[in-house]
Amino acid sequence: MDSSMTIAEAHDKLAHREVSSTELVQACIDRIEKVDGTLNAVVYRNFDKALDQAKKVDSAGKFDHPLTGIPYLVKDVYCEEGVQTTACSNVLREKNYIPPFDSTTSKRLKAVGAISIGKTNTDEFTMGASTETSCYGVTRNPWDTTRVAGGSSGGSAAGVAAGEGIFALGTDTGGSIRQPAAFCGITGLRVTYGRTSRYGVMSMGSSIDTIGPLCRNVEDLCIVTQAIAGKDPLDATTGDVPVPDYRSELKKGVKGLRVGIPKEYFLEGMNAEVEASVKAATEVFKKLGATVIDISLPHTKYATATYYVICPCAVSSNMARYDGIRYGHTADKPQNLLEYYECVRSTGFGAEVKRRIMIGTYALSAGYVDQYYRQAQKVRTLIKKDFDDAFRTVDVIVSPVSPTPAFTIGAHDANPIDMYLEDIFLTSQVMAGIPALSVPCGFSKAQGSVPALPLGLQIMGAQWQEATILRAAHAYEQATEWHMKKPVL
Ligand code: GLN
Repeated sequence: MDSSMTIAEAHDKLAHREVSSTELVQACIDRIEKVDGTLNAVVYRNFDKALDQAKKVDSAGKFDHPLTGIPYLVKDVYCEEGVQTTACSNVLREKNYIPPFDSTTSKRLKAVGAISIGKTNTDEFTMGASTETSCYGVTRNPWDTTRVAGGSSGGSAAGVAAGEGIFALGTDTGGSIRQPAAFCGITGLRVTYGRTSRYGVMSMGSSIDTIGPLCRNVEDLCIVTQAIAGKDPLDATTGDVPVPDYRSELKKGVKGLRVGIPKEYFLEGMNAEVEASVKAATEVFKKLGATVIDISLPHTKYATATYYVICPCAVSSNMARYDGIRYGHTADKPQNLLEYYECVRSTGFGAEVKRRIMIGTYALSAGYVDQYYRQAQKVRTLIKKDFDDAFRTVDVIVSPVSPTPAFTIGAHDANPIDMYLEDIFLTSQVMAGIPALSVPCGFSKAQGSVPALPLGLQIMGAQWQEATILRAAHAYEQATEWHMKKPVL
């Protein structure tokens, strides 16, 4: 059976008894067994539990909700009761941390009968743009296995692109849903900060972390977001803002929609194919009756530097709990408590996590906090103001997701700053807390041994306006065929 159906297609088949949930789950398991030896997208397999759950769903025989009986993959930072969760870090892997509770999102998906079949690979504690910092090794891109799948939700993106799950959950702190979605030719949504609950999802940057879906098309993004969004008493930062019916919003189309093109996202010397694909997408919007307007977001150039101060500051605090006493990794024969901490943390964490703990601790220390952290917070306000101003004249803003298509594994090993620059188009939305998504918008040209690689279009909206960007992306998707292409594996 085809495990690369959309949620809507799979639901239709379930509701008409053309397939059972058990068959769907089995199809994904078969696919994982066939291709994951190459991809390394799924780091923990939850097959027995998933098959049990599918049987129960089948015998209940009620498919009222579009997610009932649908198998999905979940990034290895979401806690699921009784299921190993490691953030792909040796700090938790050594003793197989098994949470005694569900994240709010896992709970909400369980309540409607969706079935989690496995945990996906991520950069260690979601720090990275390539899934190379995982303690389980890199995830390979299904379109070209010499390349990265993106990161940090690389396992989720590769898994969906390769048909290992019908959809997946990821997290986006600084681009980790949008960029891997773009690199793998699927769609991914970063919601407004506070739209979905962070409860039970391991934190990286508490004021910037968001959790959201990676899917095969925009309608599916609507279905998953609908099920997981909304106020959660267990996460005080969730907004008490009504969740619209995203799917029915799609019908409105884009006639008269004002689409902003920010000049700061089109840089001298940028990748020509990336630039051309976004320009072509704006033509599609014009044909569909939208108005395209040139705009400016003047503080864009500071966003990545600001992000790489604020994010490590949060990291230095959030990582403090991994001290070897409460969870995971331990040390042999320490002489005293300090030595114990030193040993646990220096051997448990990888290089990127340690780098961020050090940068964050430095930037927060007395004497530097004004110069770095407070300054970054001020710039963050300016970046947010850029968007507030822009959204007075436009409804959505479009840009590239990434400066290049998926890069080769190891390409940025020598210089971590190069890796940070991968996030150049993805950090200002984070600073502003606004929603943004990635939708397939073309392919690079195949050249010699390098196959054609997917490219992504980013669509941003004002705070809480997920419905508007989903609507724009859906209209674009209906007018193009990029999202229908599937990698051959
Ligand atoms: N690449 C970014 C970083 O390394 C994004 C990470 C994320 O969104 N989790 O911080």
